[in-house]
Amino acid sequence: MRSLQSEIERRGRQIFELVDNHPESPFSKAGFYQRLMTLSMRDEQLKLQLFRFVDVLPSLGSSGEIVEHLQEYFADSNGSQKISKLLGAGIRLARIVPWISGPALRWNVSEMARQFIAGRNPNDVMRTLRKRRAQKIGFTVDLLGEAVVSETETDEYAARYLDLLESLAHETKEWTDPLGKNSERFPVVNLSVKISALYSQINPADSADAIAHLAPKLRPLLRRARELGAFINFDMESYAHKNTTLELFKTIFTEEEFRDWPHAGIVIQAYLRDSEADLRNLIEWGRARGTRFAVRLVKGAYWDYETSKSRQNGWDCPVYLQKPASDANFETLTRLLLENESIVTAAFGSHNVRSIAHAQAFAEALGIHRSRFEFQLLYGMAGPIKRALVEMGYRVREYCPVGELLPGMSYLVRRLLENTSNEGFLRAKFSENVPVEDLLRDPCEILRRNRNGVPPPSNATINMTTTTPKTDLGAPYENAPLTNFALPENQEKMRAALREQRKQFGRKVPLTINGEKIWTDKIFSSVNPSEPDQIVGYAAEAGIPEAERAVAAARAAFEKWRRTSFEQRCQLVERVAEILDRRRFELSALEVFEVGKPWAQADGDIAEAIDFCTFYARQMRRMGRPRLTQNVPGEASYQHYWPRGVALVIAPWNFPLAILCGMVSAALVTGNTVIMKPSEQSVIIGAMLMEIYEEAGVPPGVLNFLNGKGSVIGAHMVAHKDVDLIAFTGSREVGLWIWETAGKTREGQRELKRVICEMGGKNAMIVDSDADLDEAIVDSIYSAFGFQGQKCSALSRLIVLEENYNRVIERLLGAAASVRVGNPEEPSVVVGPVIDEAAYRRILDYLEVGKSEATLAYQAKDVPPHGYFIPPTIFTGVTPDMRIAREEIFGPVLSVIKVRDLDEAIDVANGTDYALTGGFFSRSPANIERIKAQLEAGNVYINRPCTGAIVGRHPFGGFKMSGGGTKAGGEDYLLNFLIPRVVTENVARHGLAPEKTPEYRDEFLWPKK
Ligand SMILES: Cc1cc2nc3c(=O)[nH]c(=O)nc-3n(C[C@H](O)[C@H](O)[C@H](O)COP(=O)(O)OP(=O)(O)OC[C@H]3O[C@@H](n4cnc5c(N)ncnc54)[C@H](O)[C@@H]3O)c2cc1C
Repeated sequence: MRSLQSEIERRGRQIFELVDNHPESPFSKAGFYQRLMTLSMRDEQLKLQLFRFVDVLPSLGSSGEIVEHLQEYFADSNGSQKISKLLGAGIRLARIVPWISGPALRWNVSEMARQFIAGRNPNDVMRTLRKRRAQKIGFTVDLLGEAVVSETETDEYAARYLDLLESLAHETKEWTDPLGKNSERFPVVNLSVKISALYSQINPADSADAIAHLAPKLRPLLRRARELGAFINFDMESYAHKNTTLELFKTIFTEEEFRDWPHAGIVIQAYLRDSEADLRNLIEWGRARGTRFAVRLVKGAYWDYETSKSRQNGWDCPVYLQKPASDANFETLTRLLLENESIVTAAFGSHNVRSIAHAQAFAEALGIHRSRFEFQLLYGMAGPIKRALVEMGYRVREYCPVGELLPGMSYLVRRLLENTSNEGFLRAKFSENVPVEDLLRDPCEILRRNRNGVPPPSNATINMTTTTPKTDLGAPYENAPLTNFALPENQEKMRAALREQRKQFGRKVPLTINGEKIWTDKIFSSVNPSEPDQIVGYAAEAGIPEAERAVAAARAAFEKWRRTSFEQRCQLVERVAEILDRRRFELSALEVFEVGKPWAQADGDIAEAIDFCTFYARQMRRMGRPRLTQNVPGEASYQHYWPRGVALVIAPWNFPLAILCGMVSAALVTGNTVIMKPSEQSVIIGAMLMEIYEEAGVPPGVLNFLNGKGSVIGAHMVAHKDVDLIAFTGSREVGLWIWETAGKTREGQRELKRVICEMGGKNAMIVDSDADLDEAIVDSIYSAFGFQGQKCSALSRLIVLEENYNRVIERLLGAAASVRVGNPEEPSVVVGPVIDEAAYRRILDYLEVGKSEATLAYQAKDVPPHGYFIPPTIFTGVTPDMRIAREEIFGPVLSVIKVRDLDEAIDVANGTDYALTGGFFSRSPANIERIKAQLEAGNVYINRPCTGAIVGRHPFGGFKMSGGGTKAGGEDYLLNFLIPRVVTENVARHGLAPEKTPEYRDEFLWPKK
């Protein structure tokens, strides 16, 4: 091993010497780019702003707009001074002469992009490829494009790939292999394809669906490539697509037609922890297939994305967190590839001289000739290293992206990030002049050294794995992770749970009052909205007598429960969280059947229920202990809280577990006793929650479960003198009735009733003229049609500035047409059925209203004939006064409203009775600030969907006719369930006062044991 290290060092030094023989920038163009890099590497904040500005620039229409954005991004004097250096002119000057500075800036940025983009189109790129040919450098060409949001766009993409292939093959007919040896393995024409460009609806939970759509698009391309003697490589993208890409590769190249074709390759990303297992599996597959294939080994281009995505979702991070770990794994996989050289051709995609020298040294040790593998490097980067490798007699191929500036922006920003990363090799070598011996150090040795006390890089401290509820109040609150359905084991668990739940169809659930199971002579059924003749379960129905018994039981249990310590109550709801977590797949599967939730949405509902339990327990621990109001000598004055009494919880079916569990756990943890009434449409899930509370040990009478008609038992209990608190989430009509009814004081009533009332919305999203449409379209479709538009937060009015209107509509309609509608038992379905026949009929009526008022721009055609399926529908030409722009529809119906400018957009967005959620897509910092200040909504979302609030992170609830201003999942939510009280004691005796009064007192509200 020692000798391998010295051989690596020898080769590394040789590469560096060759590099130094021809001093030139590691990047093909200097000037503006170099200045940008230098500034970015010195100042993280400025780097962020610079890259954001570069990202928006190509989409800006006029010089005036460019200069406006420039000012907004670099308004503070610090930024403005630095940016003047970059521009060669002050921002003030730019403002005075925008027609000079705007185009100059755009020119500079296009030139910078051109550094990384080899040509605008197939013709253009040939110039570059010819130059490289003269330098003995081969090519693989990649097509840049906007993120595809529809199947029309993927078809266009597939056609462009085919065109590119034809044109490359035609232009390079006479070209030969630069090394002239083993050339049969390395066709001249080499095309890199990305699967996300070929199917817009890839769902990580459903590789089979993705493969079924991708294979037909790929086959013509592969067939033609084979005829033309070209090579096709599958690039690797984010982790969510990894398994699908691998499966697709193996599936298609095992097919009879392609089984004996050796010119196919795939990428393995060494920064992934499971990359070794994947590579071993591929090699095994390759051997069974019996034909050579290729692997491009890289570290991976999405490190920042993967780490932040997994943190957001609470997932185990799929990538290594220490750079040397990725480097070391790259070397492990290099060895694996070279050891299996008889079946797999290796391409090493790296600019890191240590990684390259290691591959060379190991190949040499195994006696593998240098013409039997290749090095691949990116266009515009590490030119001197490419030259050095050619001089050493190695095979070098350049990865050449082709495309226009606008679609190429995300690629450009990835390159900028990589080149300014603290961890990057090119930065270390060419900007920081790190000594050669450090650059060539064995990454395993660095890891060992790190473990022995030298701290790991700062970004290695991220803690991403935990599912257990945290009781440590000092630690930051952690949400329950969502299930990662990209992992096959989770897909299998969900499928098994669905099978199991099917077996349970027809189960019967009783009422629970005072711990007793009660059957009545009335029973009603809850059906599967996808197939209404399937009965998910039957539930006993309560009438007024049962409602009376439940109120009496809750009232009787209250005295003891209120005196149970808050710690015990917290532990109860935390046990509930644990059980929910354990039974997670079972509950998700039940939601798929009972309310028609797609997989991920059902899972999100369970995660949210868990969060409510753990979050409220944590809040109660903060609030439970009496707190000193002021530190005054001689007086101890403590504020603390008492529960209100008997709480009636009336919940909806659309978040059948989360909202029910959230309101119940808030009421219980604060010491109230509860009668919970789930929606009739989701009663089986409600009964499951009762069962879970009982398993967790809730005492009899403290939680009672009543199922029945809202208009009968709900109305009776709202008006009941012994009900002190009503927590309601549902329609405006019922909410307003409760608000009014509860306001009346009845004979014998002890408390003024408190109403926590959350109702609907008519939520708007504004699309600004500089919005990133790749994101705006996808997020609007998700917000409007996810769970069939049946979330109170769902998008129902898309407000588009006229400057952007045509482009938005074109892409929006295409995207809507690509969304999958069907039975949500299938994991890739996005739009399932609406909840029941009444909703179905009501929404159909609204569709007629829409047709009479506005223009029907899109309506899905293929929806299942049975079940309550409403086709996703988009109306354009909508004006704010129309009914479809004012009334809550609660279905997959989107109204698009065109406006002149942002002023009008804000007026329209705010011109509604509701104020629940609102959204804005823009890259103008000034406009974003305006929206933050002016949009009337309880939850304002910028550049993201307007649904999907997370407990603790996005306390949820609206005002105006959307609700009473409470925030579920927020710090102050529990106050609604409590009565504040203050106890003041004079603790001085004859002027003698204790020196210090404790800030918190142990509870004096509960008898000590
Ligand atoms: C020809 C070619 C094709 C490529 N194709 C793809 C592709 O299809 N898919 C893809 O994802 N990538 C691809 N890449 C890789 C990617 O784009 C980067 O260029 C590459 O990861 C940089 O690695 P390096 O060895 O050149 O540089 P180095 O500076 O040695 O490594 C930088 C890399 O280390 C990793 N890293 C950075 N910080 C950390 C950390 N804290 N902990 C752990 N790891 C860290 C990241 O992967 C980062 O990109 C390709 C690269 C080339 C050259």
